[in-house]
Amino acid sequence: SSLSHSSSILIVGAGTWGCSTALHLARRGYTSIAVLDRYPVPSPISAGDDVNKIFERLSCTDESDINSSVSAKLSEAAYRCWKDDPIFSPYLHETGIISAAITPEALRDVEAGLGYIDGEPWIKLNSKDDFRATMPSGVLTGDFPGWQGWWRKSAAGWVHARKSMESAASEAKRLGVTFITGEQKGRVTSLLYQSGDVSGAVTADGTQHRADRTILSAGAAATEIFSMKDQLRPTAWTLAHIAMTVEELKLFKNLPVLFNAEQGFFMEPDEDNHELKICDEHPGYCNWTSPGVSTPFAKHQVPKESERRIRDFLRDTIPHLADRPFTFARLCWCADTPDRNFLISKHPDHPSLLLAVGGSGHGFWYIPAIGGFIVDALEDKLDSQIKECYKWRPETASHRNWQDKQGRFGPPGSNRVMDLGDVYDWTSIEQQQNERT
Ligand code: FAD
Repeated sequence: SSLSHSSSILIVGAGTWGCSTALHLARRGYTSIAVLDRYPVPSPISAGDDVNKIFERLSCTDESDINSSVSAKLSEAAYRCWKDDPIFSPYLHETGIISAAITPEALRDVEAGLGYIDGEPWIKLNSKDDFRATMPSGVLTGDFPGWQGWWRKSAAGWVHARKSMESAASEAKRLGVTFITGEQKGRVTSLLYQSGDVSGAVTADGTQHRADRTILSAGAAATEIFSMKDQLRPTAWTLAHIAMTVEELKLFKNLPVLFNAEQGFFMEPDEDNHELKICDEHPGYCNWTSPGVSTPFAKHQVPKESERRIRDFLRDTIPHLADRPFTFARLCWCADTPDRNFLISKHPDHPSLLLAVGGSGHGFWYIPAIGGFIVDALEDKLDSQIKECYKWRPETASHRNWQDKQGRFGPPGSNRVMDLGDVYDWTSIEQQQNERT
């Protein structure tokens, strides 16, 4: 049937992109929108259920390069929304970023990825004193051994992830979107098919949710619901929190993001729970359940080797915090496409199914705008370059190299795609402290 504002639209997955899509549909006047999720927003397995995510404006560095042009279009659309849309603007923290690395290969990669925005220069950092001077005295007390980097004071920073996702969901609800959540009522076990097309989804309680259009935005779990023809590789990264004192919170306010492509990154501590989140950088962990099939699972612990990497990173940067106990940790699942471009496309064989997946490690900060592009795709009016870059493209995944680092780096020994099947030693953060997600 042709699409109209009264068409029924079913969104599978109320995570980062699902909440954004629900909001954009409602704002465009669609009146019959339902969203299914295993959990109420914020889902503890959503990659977006996190205190902070990095944002960095990108520019078009080469007009003849479609990827560069598309990145800049998305970046500018998202940035405009962060600035102007009251649903999101309270959660933008334009505090700048330091992008660093150690080995020549990683440094070349970091430098090539620096986006150039008029009037927002990158300042080269060459020494420990250069790095220390990027933050108030007493924050960075480390020696930064072998580090080099670039610092931009604006056009980058961080966004409060969970709060912006919740804000999108509550505005969508206010505009009439129905959220159906829970292990039984909201967890999708399969899509529904009719005459070769997709006609909705089935939940664990057996309910058939029929809809004129179905949007699959289940993040890393999408591969369990629909065959993505190897275009998604569910991959986990690792994060941990440490407690901060009230004095430290004050000192650590409005910090730029500190990112080392081979070691890890942190942003300022969360003001609500007084914790500093740290991620270690590496090419990721897969959970191979059969050849070529990595299956996500929830875990509120991280491998001990990840704890060691996080502490090594802290020893280089803020050594006085390097041994502080973790109060929280988790695996965070995302899914890479082979080219790390997003996948926003109707399915060639099922015209009523729209795929909105492939976050590829950088899909959070587009949350204010991404739903608009997803609705454009549903309405067959997606910008032609974006459509081309984000199309259904199984040919790019045939004979996929599952060990491909996808342009990522890690410290010596962890500079490879790792296998959770090889991990026997996990942190043992107390459950009581660990219940909050
Ligand atoms: P999710 O937000 O994961 O949403 C998927 C949803 O599907 C969840 O709500 C889940 O509950 C639901 N679901 C799963 N299975 C089912 C089912 N069977 N039925 C119904 N619902 C289901 N991006 C940035 O921009 N900046 C960053 O700094 C950044 N850092 C990151 C750090 C880490 C450690 C990780 C893992 C990712 C990071 N990303 C970052 C990437 C970003 O988080 C993701 O690209 C983005 O959140 C993906 O959104 P999504 O909607 O595709 O998936």
